Amino acid sequence: MAKNLAGKIVLITGASSGIGRSTAFEFARTSPSSLKLILTARRVDRLHDIAYQIREEVGNDVRVCIQQLDVSNPDEVEALIAGLPEEFRDVDILVNNAGFMSGFEQAPDIPQDVIRDVWATNVTGTINMTQAVLKVFKKRPNGGRGDVIMLGSIAGREAYAGGSIYCSSKAAVRAFTDALRKELINTRIRIMSVDPGQVLTEFNNIRYRFDQEQANKVYAGCDPLSPDDVAEVIVFAAGRRDNVVVADTLMFPSHQA
Ligand code: NDP
Repeated sequence: MAKNLAGKIVLITGASSGIGRSTAFEFARTSPSSLKLILTARRVDRLHDIAYQIREEVGNDVRVCIQQLDVSNPDEVEALIAGLPEEFRDVDILVNNAGFMSGFEQAPDIPQDVIRDVWATNVTGTINMTQAVLKVFKKRPNGGRGDVIMLGSIAGREAYAGGSIYCSSKAAVRAFTDALRKELINTRIRIMSVDPGQVLTEFNNIRYRFDQEQANKVYAGCDPLSPDDVAEVIVFAAGRRDNVVVADTLMFPSHQA
């Protein structure tokens, strides 16, 4: 299905849970004998478990490199790229997935640390990672080649009450993505974005402040997307032949349509 992925080196941020974890599995399934995966997150113990589970499922041929990374820290991002083992250094695909959610605070009440953490991860982190891999891409012959896939959100297109910080952060990611794609027009660097609606992941624990009862109420009678649904679209986009840019994919469960 995705011949274009053979031999590629894929770096995923926020690979320790949810969509990032599923994306790691989905890439591994497409080309287990040649694809190389760099899994990053802050909770590195989880990444080791995921690497073990991937090898259990697809076999020992898949090459996995685990790196602890806080995307909001530009020094850590630079050190990660500079310090990758030789066989993983020439990154082809970045999945800019790491993301952080606030609760449903009304705008006047949002604490400073929430504003800082959401923007530092979702916006600054995305920009930090993109700048770092663009340098890697541009070292290649003929002006460079590579893919960046952003995790946007329906929240970046349509804000909801109680979502001012998260929605504005995803709108900023969308604007950054649009501008970057225009800057790189007519190059061999593809800038793509997958923008989901409701996906059932650990994200919702934060959103509902670990109030499971409240979360259950919101999801009662709904069939949200699974992280695997989103991962399939990410890997589909990355696997198209070089001249095909699956630029923006908006996807949501049918109850949100
Ligand atoms: P999860 O909470 O399951 O995963 C978030 C991931 O981001 C974790 O692996 C976490 O790892 C990582 N992360 C958070 N902060 C940082 C940081 N500062 N540096 C590095 N990694 C970090 O949520 P989802 O899988 O749902 O979210 C993934 C992406 O999808 C996000 O960008 C989110 O905005 C987007 N999205 C989610 C939707 C949903 O309904 N769930 C809908 C639309 C978009 P660790 O804590 O180990 O660092």
